Amino acid sequence: MGMIDWDAVQTAEHVQRGEVSAVECIEEALLRIESTNPTVNAFLHVDGEGALAKARFMDHNLTREAKANLPLAGVAVAIKDNMVTTDMPTTAGSKILEGFRSPYNATVVELLERAGAIVVGKTNMDEFAMGSSTEHSAYGVTRNPWDPNRVPGGSSGGSAAAVAARMVPLALGSDTGGSIRLPASYCGVFGIKPTYGRVSRYGLIAYASSLDQIGPLARSVRDLARTLHLIGRHDEKDATSLDVDTIPESPIPTALQSLRIGLPEEYFGEGIDIRVRTLIEKTLDQLRESGADLVPISLPHTRYAIATYYLIAPAEASSNLSRYDGVRYGLRVAGDDLIHMYQKTRQEGFGSEVKRRILLGTHALSAGYYDAYYLKAQKVRTLIRQDFDNAFAQVDLIVTPTVADLPFKLGERDLDPLQMYLTDIFTVTTNLAGIPGLSQPVGLVDGLPVGLQWMGPPLSEDRVLSAASALEAILPPPEWPLSGGIQE
Ligand code: GLN
Repeated sequence: MGMIDWDAVQTAEHVQRGEVSAVECIEEALLRIESTNPTVNAFLHVDGEGALAKARFMDHNLTREAKANLPLAGVAVAIKDNMVTTDMPTTAGSKILEGFRSPYNATVVELLERAGAIVVGKTNMDEFAMGSSTEHSAYGVTRNPWDPNRVPGGSSGGSAAAVAARMVPLALGSDTGGSIRLPASYCGVFGIKPTYGRVSRYGLIAYASSLDQIGPLARSVRDLARTLHLIGRHDEKDATSLDVDTIPESPIPTALQSLRIGLPEEYFGEGIDIRVRTLIEKTLDQLRESGADLVPISLPHTRYAIATYYLIAPAEASSNLSRYDGVRYGLRVAGDDLIHMYQKTRQEGFGSEVKRRILLGTHALSAGYYDAYYLKAQKVRTLIRQDFDNAFAQVDLIVTPTVADLPFKLGERDLDPLQMYLTDIFTVTTNLAGIPGLSQPVGLVDGLPVGLQWMGPPLSEDRVLSAASALEAILPPPEWPLSGGIQE
């Protein structure tokens, strides 16, 4: 098995034992990026020289003992471009941040680097993380490595595609309503959105602050666990960061016989692609045969989730995006006076989806409509959370499809925002409830990946990862894309 097949844990073990150098790991990643990124466009910035310099430092200046203490020694990682970095620009996929460089690193970047990981680049995304396809980036679309005519999902499509195409073993994404899990599903990789507050948002460019969480995308459950173990720590720089124990570094696969899994009827109804349904049901049969107790449950307020999400998220976004005024960051377009400069900068700097969200959000928050829209949405959010509380009184975990269909063709939903919003129907609920959600690849249909979603109670990441690990052990090993215009 060559270096390109190693996951992050294997890579770190080889570097720790001195079997490969950090420089070799980074060179391998850079070569893959050079050969596959022109097709996939997963990266917005790659800092090959900077990454190699860090790898050289590790190889030359650290003793074997020092390297053994680095849980991600020499691992090439990609960071979604809405997490700020001092060594590379940060654009959040927007023209309004073109050329912006942060004076500090996001906490997650600091924690990964401290663990020996080496950031090789920043990944493409829907502008300000608004989207489900990575088509709303100001810097071009990212393509799905399984079929370059299809979307990788979004908004963390660059991170998912970079991992699936084996440019890097590990990437960070952010998830406000599904943006880690949806691209993980469409690209056939693992991704977890942690409990709200588990991972520091310091240095994450805010989309909807009460929903945003950072999490890893990788090619194995143990990579997710190791990364979350490292980044899921209390941070006094983020007032919503929880002061709780970190999760174990390695998940112990759950004994499936002892597991009660809820299947919410609202997630198995109409509208699911029959090929996705068939594969998910086959996987559920495998869980059942291994002794898990699968019980039907109901999450009755699910049907209000999309409406609730698309009031709360744009409302928070409209407030968060007010800071891009041409004065403090990135782009400035000259105008006749100050107000005109604000207007021209925002007009030229924001894309159409971002403008649509600002309009939706300011409308929902406006004096005449606040009670009818925003306040009502907050109340329904509470009901959605209570649905989960009630369900987790009966079951340990919940399983659903991550998304109702297979990766769609580029351009297919671009002109129909409502259709695009519906893509998130199975993922927004965990953000509204603040609970963890994990997407796990369970196989291919017609050459395209299908993901299964695990949901758990607040702070149950260890339970979620252990169950996913048990399922990973009974499924054939996941496949990785070989063709689709990607050269080996
Ligand atoms: N697709 C959803 C949206 O556009 C979720 C995006 C996300 O999780 N960042 O808001």
